[in-house]
Amino acid sequence: MTEVKKQRTLAEPFKIKMVEPLKITTEAYRIKVLEKAGYNPFLLSSDDVFIDLLTDSGTGAMSDKQWAGIMSGDESYAGARSWEHLEAVVKELTGMPYILPTHQGRAAERILYGILGGPGKIFISNTHFDTTRANIEFTGATAIDILPDNAYDPEIDLPFKGNIDTDKLLGLIKQYGKENIAAVIMTVTNNSSGGQPVSMANVKAARKICDEHQIMMVIDGCRIAENSYFVKHREAGYQDKTYEEIAKEMLGLGDAFVMSAKKDGLVNMGGLLTLKDATLAQKCTNLLIISEGFATYGGLAGRDMEAMAIGLKEVFDADYLHYRIKSTGYLGEHLKAKGIPVVWPIGGHAVYIDAKKLYPNIPVEEYPGQALVCDLYIKGGIRCVEIGSVMFGKYDEQGKLIPAKNELVRLAIPRRVYTQSHIDYVLDIFDDILEMRSQHHGYKITYEPPFLRHFTAKFEKMIPLAVPAN
Ligand SMILES: *Cc1c(COP(=O)(O)O)cnc(C)c1O
Repeated sequence: MTEVKKQRTLAEPFKIKMVEPLKITTEAYRIKVLEKAGYNPFLLSSDDVFIDLLTDSGTGAMSDKQWAGIMSGDESYAGARSWEHLEAVVKELTGMPYILPTHQGRAAERILYGILGGPGKIFISNTHFDTTRANIEFTGATAIDILPDNAYDPEIDLPFKGNIDTDKLLGLIKQYGKENIAAVIMTVTNNSSGGQPVSMANVKAARKICDEHQIMMVIDGCRIAENSYFVKHREAGYQDKTYEEIAKEMLGLGDAFVMSAKKDGLVNMGGLLTLKDATLAQKCTNLLIISEGFATYGGLAGRDMEAMAIGLKEVFDADYLHYRIKSTGYLGEHLKAKGIPVVWPIGGHAVYIDAKKLYPNIPVEEYPGQALVCDLYIKGGIRCVEIGSVMFGKYDEQGKLIPAKNELVRLAIPRRVYTQSHIDYVLDIFDDILEMRSQHHGYKITYEPPFLRHFTAKFEKMIPLAVPAN
């Protein structure tokens, strides 16, 4: 029997109680301000952005219950009620006895990897997120990513494309010696590989290998709820479990859990580090107190912890998660149907576009991804980020660009912020983009800092833009 699938409107499982007006601008205005920003949307004022898809980090909307929690947050220095609330929620979620609050994910990383790392140490992950890698390398340790080879193919359809390659893991343990492996880090969902999920079977397999070699396993679970959605709907044996049960099972497999609560914590600022081992927890707590704050608030206000405690429950709501994953999928699937080359399948928090394929005539030396980022802003006031040679390109000795592996553009979706019609608006703007496919020129860099150049680099258009008269 074939099932006829009808496209149904995806109605948001919430209604709007407070609004934040958006400024409607003209194309001529946007060309002017983008030029002033050196064609780098990071340097735009957010007031000039209509749909902001730069990141899903800390950009979500809080619920009425979270705002109510903000008002009743306890700002006591030690033993605050809001801390006790957060600690209880996180203990229940992770099953771990030691809970440390931090101001964001990278603070938890700096503390944990500062203790576990150091010269000669090796960390192995499905994919280290940028701040994870930076915090590891800063200690003098090495970070190695091991996705299965086929997961690098942007078009291959795999249900769990974020998985770690367990054969490569065994190989690396043999090569470096188990005593030199500081930890295996499972990033769920796998942010840097497109928000792709990781299966429970894969985390269990990694756990088994860690047990056999007495290696610590850390779960970088910023998007643990989104990952649980994919497990329930794609992995045999999980259909009848709740999202929270699936998350608990996965987190229970780790020795430590690091979280940027700016993602699935549904808050604008916050992070967590949770541990099973008492000695390690003691060391981490000592560092926390030196750099973040006392052990019962980390770098957070009482109201922040209250909102986080509530957010960590709300994020597992079945209607919310369905809307969240379907809404991201809707954007990706409709872009694909229009003929826009997207990384497939669509992950949990973002859609990635292959700009080299979309703009085949723009040479990589003229940054096709940056061209798409600028075109989306000019045509629609949409802000997004290049993940290609602007972000990862290097130069050889002659100063010639060594391009990145791919020229991608990421559209990251903030949580509970935009409605279905905003997403439809973004799809409409891509009709204008399709008309620009034959363009031959992109941008050149006129200024770049020595590190992380995508944040502050400035560009010039190879062919000046014609400003319309509107
Ligand atoms: C965002 C993120 C981090 C870092 O968290 P911040 O809150 O931005 O410091 C670490 N790991 C992953 C997978 C992330 O997505």
